[in-house]
This record gives sequence, C-alpha cells and structure tokens, in this order.
Amino acid sequence: MQTCLITGVTGQDGAYLSQLLLQKGCRVIGMLRRSASADVIGDRLRGLGIINDIELVDGDMMDLSSLIRLIQTYKPDQVYNLAAQSFVAASWNQPLLTGQVTGIGAANVLEAVRIARPEARYYQASSSEMFGKTREPQQNEATLFHPRSPYAVAKLYAHWTTVNYRESFGMHASSGILFNHESPLRGIEFVTRKITDGVARIKLGLAKELSLGNLEAKRDWGHARDYVRAMVLMLEQETPDDYVIATGRTVTVREFCRMAFSHAGLNYEDHVTMSNNFLRPAEVDLLCGDAGKARDRLGWTPTVTLEALIAEMVDADLARHRRSRDQ
Ligand code: NDP
Ligand code: GDP
Repeated sequence: MQTCLITGVTGQDGAYLSQLLLQKGCRVIGMLRRSASADVIGDRLRGLGIINDIELVDGDMMDLSSLIRLIQTYKPDQVYNLAAQSFVAASWNQPLLTGQVTGIGAANVLEAVRIARPEARYYQASSSEMFGKTREPQQNEATLFHPRSPYAVAKLYAHWTTVNYRESFGMHASSGILFNHESPLRGIEFVTRKITDGVARIKLGLAKELSLGNLEAKRDWGHARDYVRAMVLMLEQETPDDYVIATGRTVTVREFCRMAFSHAGLNYEDHVTMSNNFLRPAEVDLLCGDAGKARDRLGWTPTVTLEALIAEMVDADLARHRRSRDQ
C-alpha cells in the first residue's frame, strides 16, 4: 500500500486528490495547519464523505521542523505539495506571506523530503500564472515565464526549486503547470465560483447584482477532478518531469458569465456590474494551454467540457442556497 502525504489537503485539489488516492487503495495523510476553526475547516473533505478515511496531522508550510517530523513519522512514498496562499488578488496585499508560504514553503517541503525521505516521489503544484504576460497564443513547457503577481513570482521560485532538486539530488520531483481548474469546491473568491454563486443568489431572489472586475481576461478553465488525475499520473512515471495540464480552450470572464447566467435562464447583462475594486495592479490577459506532452506521455486528456463544468457549479450553488433558505 502506497502512503501519500498531501499538503493543502483542505483545499479544492486536496479534497479531490484525497478521494482519488483513497479509491486507488492508498493510505492518505493530510497535513492540516492549526486553526481555531478546526470544526469547519475540513468542509470539503466532509462534503465528499472522506474526512474519516484520511489521517489528518498537524503541520505548517512555514515550520520546517513540523514537515521533517511528519515525513520521518509517516515515511510517505509520495508527497503532493498543494498548500499555498493561492489567491492572486490577495498576493499584492500579503506579498511576503505569499512568498513565505507559496515559495519558501515549497522549498521547506523539498528540504524535508531530501533530509528524511529522499526516495519519495514529489509533486509540485505549479501554475499557469507563471506565464503571466506571455506573448504566445498557447503556452507549453517551453514557453518563457513572465510572472505578473507576487503569487506567480512565488510559484516560479517553487517551480525552479523543484527542477533544481531533481537535477541536483536526483530526486523524483515533478512539477505540474496546471491551468485554472474549478469545481463546486472552488474557493468562493475565485471568479468562476463567485459567478456561479452570484447566479444562484440572483436566481433565488437573494441578490440582484454581481460586481466583477476585468471581464475581458481570458482563461483556460478545466475541472479539478480531471486535473488531480494528472498529478497522480505524473508520480506514476519512471522519470520525473514537468507537464502543462490544460484544456486548450480559452474564453473571457464575460463569456463565462454569459454561459453561467444562461444556464439558470438569466441574462448576465441584466445583473453584472463592473467595479474598479476588483481590478488588479497587473493583469494576466490570456492563458491557453497546450497539454500535448501530457497527452502523449501520460495518456492524459480532460473529460469535462466547460459547459458541463459550469452546469455542475451553478446547480451545486443553487442546491446549496435552496438548502440554507429552506432550513
Ligand atoms: P486552495 O486555496 O483551495 O487550497 C490551498 C491549501 O493550502 C489549503 O488547504 C490551505 O489550508 C493550505 N495552506 C495555506 N497556507 C498554509 C500553510 N501556511 N501551511 C499549511 N497549509 C496551508 O487551492 P487549490 O486546491 O485550488 O490549489 C491547490 C494548489 O494548486 C495550490 O498550490 C494552488 O496555488 C495551485 N494551483 C491551483 C490552480 C487552480 O486553478 N485551482 C491552478 C494552478 C495551480 P486552509 O484550508 O487552512 O486555508
Ligand atoms: P487567477 O487566474 O488565478 O487569477 O483566478 P481568478 O479566478 O482569481 O481570476 C481569473 C480572472 O478573472 C482574472 O483575470 C481576474 O482579473 C478576473 N476577474 C474579473 N473579476 C473578478 C472578480 O471579481 N474576482 C476575481 N477573483 N477575479 C476576477
């Protein structure tokens, strides 16, 4: 039985990845940071009905000793490093924390693996945000990086540290350059979930308007369930490597709005307003991934269309608001 350690287990990807690894018969150790709200913090794992199947253990990305102790104790065969301050917009307000958790935190996990379990296979949650102000209409593993936020800068540090540990110490360290991936478990501050939650509230008469920032930014949005499958495939390879994971289809935030409102029988133009409050100091205008390498080497392709993703998210938010309204 493979033992897998997941940092960021309480996040969107941590929840789906845990579910997948449990289905594969793995022992899943989930690292949890100490919180005064521990009773609500595992909601995603609870929602998937797997919270009692995971061994939740204390640790923090900024506390190297806690990471070393965890790895010494549980001797994981695989380490999935998903923990991060992952919200781009927040990274301008908390650049140093973002650097510590998202950047140095990854180096801490790599150091803990190198010291306590160098034979373990390591996955780094890299991000398409690293491409930032790209000039390429489609981005792949060879595309130049030009990060546009403290988040992306921190992710780039973590990405290159992963590559460097592979090259310096021969570690089985792989980096997944994942494009945006969403689901009903996506954090509510991200634009897709903010939109589907807004659609549900407007449809049920709980709100009239939804205030957004830049509607013209284009993103390549896939489903998180598909993307965690790619993480597992990367660690199953004999040789570690870096892979872009994306759908290859890109649409604007505006088009996402149109599709989400129309799924609920609404016209986004009647409800969406624009606010400068949600504009960013520097924007990433276009992301569109070429996952050809993942398709050829991992046999990975996405299975969920954007239409199906939006329908699942809107329906889940409608159901959630109906439940709390009827309580
Ligand atoms: P989430 O924001 O949903 O989850 C982040 C996780 O990191 C949470 O479990 C959070 O814990 C944990 N965390 C934050 N700070 C610390 C800390 N100091 N110590 C320990 N744990 C900490 O992210 P996603 O699941 O969406 O994404 C997973 C990873 O993939 C992230 O690294 C993200 O940056 C990256 N990524 C995501 C993409 C996406 O589209 N979703 C695209 C590309 C990369 P808590 O619950 O306590 O806050
Ligand atoms: P990101 O790609 O990791 O930054 O994911 P987000 O979901 O946070 O943002 C995706 C895009 O939506 C970015 O270009 C944002 O500028 C844009 N956007 C427009 N309005 C909003 C908003 O109200 N909230 C968020 N989070 N993003 C918005």
